[in-house]
Amino acid sequence: MTERSTPLNPLSLTFGEFADRFRREYGKGHDQAAAAYREFFRNSPPDFSAPKAFANMSELARKLAADLCPGLPELVTETREGALCKWGLRLGDGLMIESVVVPMTNHVTLCISSQAGCRMGCAFCETARMGLRRNLTAAEIVGQVFTAKVVRGLNIRNIVFMGMGEPLDNFDNVVQAIRVMNDDRGLAIAHRHITLSTAGRADGIRKLAALGWPNLHLAVSLNAPDDRIRSALMPVNRKYPMAALRDALSAWPLKKNGTLFVEYVLIRDVNDRPEHARQVAEYLRPLKVRLNLIPYNPRSESPFDPPSEAGVLQFRDWLVRERVFVRLRTAKGRDIMAGCGQLAGRTLSDV
Ligand code: SF4
Repeated sequence: MTERSTPLNPLSLTFGEFADRFRREYGKGHDQAAAAYREFFRNSPPDFSAPKAFANMSELARKLAADLCPGLPELVTETREGALCKWGLRLGDGLMIESVVVPMTNHVTLCISSQAGCRMGCAFCETARMGLRRNLTAAEIVGQVFTAKVVRGLNIRNIVFMGMGEPLDNFDNVVQAIRVMNDDRGLAIAHRHITLSTAGRADGIRKLAALGWPNLHLAVSLNAPDDRIRSALMPVNRKYPMAALRDALSAWPLKKNGTLFVEYVLIRDVNDRPEHARQVAEYLRPLKVRLNLIPYNPRSESPFDPPSEAGVLQFRDWLVRERVFVRLRTAKGRDIMAGCGQLAGRTLSDV
């Protein structure tokens, strides 16, 4: 066995990467590596003496139990609204992040964070008020899924990167996290069950497209009918205006019958006029999209108001008339500040 430079943490490694290090550090081959990786992702805490591959290797099993420490974020708060639940997780350096557990009919969707805070500065967003504290490591991103699926035993089927942070601003770690959570021998979450939501980093969209993952879902927060309103709401638009964003979306490798997801947070007297619906429809015309219309959930001390229920229905009808494929999303989570763009550092100051 050799000296290790960094701890062997399967949360940051695909099976292939893990097996390489396992061979170098423990001098054991593929079968033991596969058994260790599987056991790690199946049980918490893992019992490395259980797999057949470790029969008569009790010393190795003991060593793995001591070495393979996931260093999970600590679950310190759980805030419920009906069945929906927001988790406050403390990272190793004390920073807090949030995940949201969203029960669906037969499974659970987990909304995860990619950064502690965010530097994108969207005017309607609670997280923006924190600024960016730091990027999460791949292990910290996967750790949120591991906590839900393995530690808590939840039937997690879908993962959405819609928590704290702009995923494409932490590109390498997010991509590595997707690789790890996708690994069949570990969490085995297929690309088609993963949605990455971006505020519109056109450069990141192109880089992601170049990976050639046609089943991964891409969602974009549009939230405005034109550059003037979008730049006021989302500073990212000053660097990547709507035309550049649409060019990047056009180049996304959609599979047959696939659609891009576009999110539109409807804010009273800001982006809710009939001409706005027409402009949005015009903008989206060349793309294959499904638009999720989301009534704005006011963040604390928000300068904006939520739309009325009638206003939401009317805006949806205007879009439908323009032949936009729209789905109205309920404001699930409004009361616990876990709606879109509202995962935040409230927990940070509360803990
Ligand atoms: S909406 Fe998303 S990208 Fe914008 S500031 Fe909030 S977390 Fe960042």
